[in-house]
Amino acid sequence: MRAQVLIFLGAPGAGKGTQATEASKEFGIPQISTGEILREAVARRMPLGLAAKAKMEQGELVPDEVVCGIVEDRVSRTDCRNGFILDGFPRTVAQAVFLDDMLERRGLGKPLVVNLQVESDVLLKRLTGRRTCPVCGKIYNIYFSPPRQDELCDVDGTPLQSRADDNEGSIRRRLEAYERQTRPLIDYYRERTLLHETDGNREPPVIARDLAGELRYS
Ligand code: ADP
Repeated sequence: MRAQVLIFLGAPGAGKGTQATEASKEFGIPQISTGEILREAVARRMPLGLAAKAKMEQGELVPDEVVCGIVEDRVSRTDCRNGFILDGFPRTVAQAVFLDDMLERRGLGKPLVVNLQVESDVLLKRLTGRRTCPVCGKIYNIYFSPPRQDELCDVDGTPLQSRADDNEGSIRRRLEAYERQTRPLIDYYRERTLLHETDGNREPPVIARDLAGELRYS
């Protein structure tokens, strides 16, 4: 891959996290997920988490200056010096402008942006059906990849949990926030000829295999 920075763009439930994890293994550069960093800050009751918790549970975006600060901090660590993968950032045009400036300051060049396109009924099932094991982190979906025993983890038998923001009201607001604030980024990156479109309706391993091949030569 010529670019040092890879961005996964897509609606909630599009599979950004899953594909970012695969690409991180494939290209040997770290994955930075702003959603994960924020959820960890909430779980550890850090000041950052307290500020973000209500917004996240309601399905609204956390303020730009907060997430831009998180990204700048994370990117400053030495494991990011040869590049990194962003999952869930940028999500607004202001964040994209900040990122452009940050990459230039750090001499990291232009990013490569993968847009995962997924139909809205698939998105809804992925979000409402998502369950996670709080102990080992394994992710299930009651429609597409259910555990062997209802609501229990296959690995350790722990009762599965839904994410606090995977409820109906919050899912609706996250999809609205995506339409209004994040979708404009598709044009932003297309105009800069940095956009790579992918069919995100396919099975995750199929997408990952395709992307690994395509991105290697982009
Ligand atoms: P999803 O893409 O499934 O909605 P994420 O894990 O990426 O989930 O994000 C969860 C929540 O964290 C978002 O709904 C939002 O409140 C907050 N968040 C994550 N990344 C950003 C960002 N770049 N800008 C603003 N808020 C963010």
